[in-house]
Amino acid sequence: MVATNGPGPLTTAELVRFRAQLLQAGAGVAARLADLLAAADLALGDLPGEKEPDEEGRDRLRGLLDEIETAIGRIDGGAYGVCLDCGAPLRRAALAATPWVDRCGRCDVLDTLEGPHRAGAA
Ligand SMILES: [Zn+2]
Repeated sequence: MVATNGPGPLTTAELVRFRAQLLQAGAGVAARLADLLAAADLALGDLPGEKEPDEEGRDRLRGLLDEIETAIGRIDGGAYGVCLDCGAPLRRAALAATPWVDRCGRCDVLDTLEGPHRAGAA
């Protein structure tokens, strides 16, 4: 089967591939998180009450893992590949680069800016 890059719903083959990518990415993130937690335990054993090292990195990994698991859930639920905010199909290139992406570029920018969402404004 030839890979398509046009619009239209994702094929079963594409969903299978994205799911495999997500599982692989999730396993990698989980391993890094485990390493980080092990290191944190060691550091805390020596220094009770000390601020946990790399708390920010740990939170980022947890958040990423959460996004990956959510994306796998959307594949299983048949709701994968569309923007959570506006429902527009996500670009295949974006999904290929970041399979857990859940917003189109436009909504992502709006979300980042946290500006007013102007309905219908061009
Ligand atoms: Zn959107």
